[in-house]
Amino acid sequence: MEAWQSRMDGIIDAHVHMGSLTDAAHVNNILEAVRLEKMGLVSIQDPAHGSGLPQSLYMKGRYPGTFYVFAGLNHGQQLSGGRVTAPSLVAQVESFRKMGCDGIKMIEGKPTSRQTLDIPVTDTYFADYWARVEDLGVPLVWHVGDPEEFWNPEQLPEWARKRGWGYSAADVQKEELYAEVDEVLARHPNLRIIFAHFYFLSADLARAARFFDAHPHIYFDLTPGIEMLYNLSRDAQTTRDFFLKYADRIVFGTDISSRNAVTEAVFRAGIIFRWLESDATFRVPDGVDVLLGKPEDGIIRGLSLPDAVLERIYRLNYTRLVGAKPRSLSLSHAIAECTRIGSIARRLSGMPAEDTEAVRVARKLEVLS
Ligand SMILES: [Zn+2]
Repeated sequence: MEAWQSRMDGIIDAHVHMGSLTDAAHVNNILEAVRLEKMGLVSIQDPAHGSGLPQSLYMKGRYPGTFYVFAGLNHGQQLSGGRVTAPSLVAQVESFRKMGCDGIKMIEGKPTSRQTLDIPVTDTYFADYWARVEDLGVPLVWHVGDPEEFWNPEQLPEWARKRGWGYSAADVQKEELYAEVDEVLARHPNLRIIFAHFYFLSADLARAARFFDAHPHIYFDLTPGIEMLYNLSRDAQTTRDFFLKYADRIVFGTDISSRNAVTEAVFRAGIIFRWLESDATFRVPDGVDVLLGKPEDGIIRGLSLPDAVLERIYRLNYTRLVGAKPRSLSLSHAIAECTRIGSIARRLSGMPAEDTEAVRVARKLEVLS
């Protein structure tokens, strides 16, 4: 089937994952095929491999003006029980700003992340971090929670089970995660946060509305979890009213990964475009990536939003929060950070620093400088 293209121009995708340096040309092909103007690369660090952030810094340095970078935190010191030293979270925030990152990506709040680093965001470990992020006004993209069914073995989708995304009573519970966020927001009401995946509240729009009303600096992105589109299609009229009322608080994102084929990326974005722009009733097409499930899984009802609302969702909300243009990369600071990330990886895993994504990127950035 024909992939669906947006009728709008100047679209910014707030939520894209950059897998590897070797995907650089491919990401540009995706950008062009989906007809995006800019991408926000959300960059979760993998401290043991020295990857996650460096490849996004490379994109920002190599293609100025196109890629926003949201840097993930490096918890290498905490994860190694102090065997390896890494800069404090506050020092990391300051370093991200200096090198030209546009914001911070947090995955602390996904239950699998909690399995690795079992520290609630309300813990003193994060106290200075939150204060600094609030002071500096650094925007966040933050993944908190997961779809309800991931806690229910009977409803857990097969693709999620395969990825270890099934949780039990031994794991952190969804309501605990929300309560921790509420506490952070009560202490730091000026935090500017885009919660990924509609904050997993798509099944409860009344609660989403109360959350928006209580927190004026909070946004949701529209990245599937395809369950979001099915939930929001059950009563399309109520959803449409919500989108009109909160048009300033919703941000377009796809969760495209540079590991997706171009056709998969086009399908993924096309589903969201069609949902927002058309009044069609449709299913995901065959050939979508595995995380979107199968056509028989559910029905999506188009919201037929007016252009003025689409403009806010596609671009204006993001640029108001993050900036009209991506900040420019300071090559010297980025090279220093990548070198540091590479040496943390070497000490954590024993892999030669030269083999890490971080040091490979540092070498590439040296050539640009
Ligand atoms: Zn994501």
